[in-house]
Amino acid sequence: MGMLETAEVVVIGGGIAGLSLALHLAQAGQRGIVLLEREDQPGTYASGHNAAVARSLTGRDEHTALAVEGRRRLAQAGLLTASGGILACAEPGGLDQLEAEAARHGVAVRRGEGIPCLA
Ligand SMILES: Cc1cc2nc3c(=O)[nH]c(=O)nc-3n(C[C@H](O)[C@H](O)[C@H](O)COP(=O)(O)OP(=O)(O)OC[C@H]3O[C@@H](n4cnc5c(N)ncnc54)[C@H](O)[C@@H]3O)c2cc1C
Repeated sequence: MGMLETAEVVVIGGGIAGLSLALHLAQAGQRGIVLLEREDQPGTYASGHNAAVARSLTGRDEHTALAVEGRRRLAQAGLLTASGGILACAEPGGLDQLEAEAARHGVAVRRGEGIPCLA
């Protein structure tokens, strides 16, 4: 019998999502995991060509909680270089919402003043 016939779990796609799923299943004790990747190597598409930005604030609390935890784990693994970022808002009150979201999730932010809006 081949690997696929005996596999207990088949993960399709060797991007960050499939690799992470396979890793966490294995760490949780799952055996018989087969990961299928149609290209010659993993990470050929988006996962191998992204900008490597791990932002915290997403505009939705449930996503921000995951993003903050993801950043914490990346930092713990020595894979995160904190460099900061700039967020701009076109809507009135947008910065207030971002600040409130940051406070809810313990994300450090500092408001810049006096930057003209060119739009
Ligand atoms: C230009 C760019 C910049 C980005 N910048 C950022 C960023 O700064 N920060 C951020 O958080 N995100 C960023 N992203 C988004 C992020 O890279 C993607 O959301 C993430 O990589 C998606 O991972 P994935 O595993 O879902 O998909 P993919 O990386 O696309 O992996 C899917 C894999 O599945 C394989 N596959 C598909 N179909 C089959 C099949 N039938 N059989 C076998 N294998 C199959 C593919 O070959 C591929 O390897 C960026 C994306 C792009 C394109």
